[in-house]
Amino acid sequence: MQKLADAFCVICAGFPERKLRHGGVWQARPISRAHLYRIIHNPTYIGQVLYKGKIYEGEHEGIISRETYDKVQDLLRSRRLNHGFTRKRIPGLLRGLLYCKECGSDMVPVYAKKNGIKHFYYICHRCQKEGYASCPTRTVRQPEFNEAVLKQLAERALINRAELEQQELEQQTETLSQVVRRITYAYQGENIEVLLPNGVSFAFHAAVKPNYVRRNKRVKANPEAPKIDKKTYYKALALQIREYMRVNNLSQRECAAALGMSPARVSQILALI
Ligand SMILES: [Zn+2]
Repeated sequence: MQKLADAFCVICAGFPERKLRHGGVWQARPISRAHLYRIIHNPTYIGQVLYKGKIYEGEHEGIISRETYDKVQDLLRSRRLNHGFTRKRIPGLLRGLLYCKECGSDMVPVYAKKNGIKHFYYICHRCQKEGYASCPTRTVRQPEFNEAVLKQLAERALINRAELEQQELEQQTETLSQVVRRITYAYQGENIEVLLPNGVSFAFHAAVKPNYVRRNKRVKANPEAPKIDKKTYYKALALQIREYMRVNNLSQRECAAALGMSPARVSQILALI
């Protein structure tokens, strides 16, 4: 039981720091999805040994029953059949070109479904692998981001938008990769920097963050959520706004603009805490 509890701690918190025999330190780090996958498939836990691609009975006792192990493998297999290789590539105009300034990861296309409608974003790959706490960049809205970049490139006569829009999405990405070497996004100030193949770069601002206030309202409208009174709701909103200002280093006025609210309203809500 203790082993199981320890395993859960490791999965929730990542690998702890370990001291090595020769004085080195093995850094603490979170568990990636790939690593979790290897743990789940590891036959060592049922008392077997994997050696050169073949499984042998080990001399140690397993800590998981054969039955549970087989059940898990079946479950993984059935999910793979449904979602595996037939999965469509998620569209993303700037796939392969976009990087997170904060942690240096690439930013990859994802979507979220709301009321049956797909909303497309780019997510910092580190956030996707290790959770939102791992990098403050999180996500940006794809349509706004793509539009801001295309507008800037067209203004500088680096692309012909009419021609570009004739092309299939993957061809458009290919065309852009010939014009642009790299695009870097800094969540602070929603700043986008474009590096050209000749080493010249330019930067600009665009409102590309998801709208946190709207997300709050949706939570309130959920009929299954416990009912909370208005005062509590606004207090929670105030805390969230304060956190949003702190993380993004915004003044009340800048925050109001980013959230699409009047500065007076933001100030009124913040007065609750
Ligand atoms: Zn990042």
